Amino acid sequence: MICQDLCQVYLPEFTHFLWHELGHFYAVANERKKFYYFGGQISFPNEIRRTGYMVWNEFIAESIANYVSRRALNTNCQDITDPLCWYPVYNRVKKAIYYAYNTFFLSFDEYSLGQYFATILTDVEVKAFIDAAGKNELLEWDSRNWRNVPLHTNTIDPLALHTIPEQFSGLMLETKALLEKKLAEESFWNVEGKFLDELGSLISELNNQKGFFVLRQALNISENGKG
Ligand SMILES: [Zn+2]
Repeated sequence: MICQDLCQVYLPEFTHFLWHELGHFYAVANERKKFYYFGGQISFPNEIRRTGYMVWNEFIAESIANYVSRRALNTNCQDITDPLCWYPVYNRVKKAIYYAYNTFFLSFDEYSLGQYFATILTDVEVKAFIDAAGKNELLEWDSRNWRNVPLHTNTIDPLALHTIPEQFSGLMLETKALLEKKLAEESFWNVEGKFLDELGSLISELNNQKGFFVLRQALNISENGKG
């Protein structure tokens, strides 16, 4: 359940893993209608709901872990605008979207998508970074003058959507908005079928579009190859 070799001595990381796994238990225990059987890797008649649950399941566990971390540990950067602080935070966002897009060839990876959206919506450091980027408050190191200077306006996409093909941005932002609305609920961990269907529709659309996108690219390459 917990990869202990990944968190041998680093206690905050270990506790985060632990809270994540407990988050799964907490979310499943609070399902009024039981959806956890969708978590298996086999196909179900309601594929859209299953797809929604695959993202939700990981999203909610990571969100709960971030929620508990925020309260139990004072992990936020002292000054998120400093490049020494925001660079590694931004790299976390880029890594999360990289796995969401690149793990599978013809579709997104639902597990990693759940992690990505939980990271940008509930990780306290990432949220502070996105907020600072939106206000143009981030700094960058100026090696000629040996000091931090304001980062040029609009030179950063804090959600790292530019690292995947542009055509997916709209659906990714719609999914973000849906999950953001869910998190605003008082008991955000409670989930209903209607919500899973909405989420599943967006993710299925992302998967379908990626499948076509990759196939179209492959076709173009072979056509060009035939020249
Ligand atoms: Zn998990």
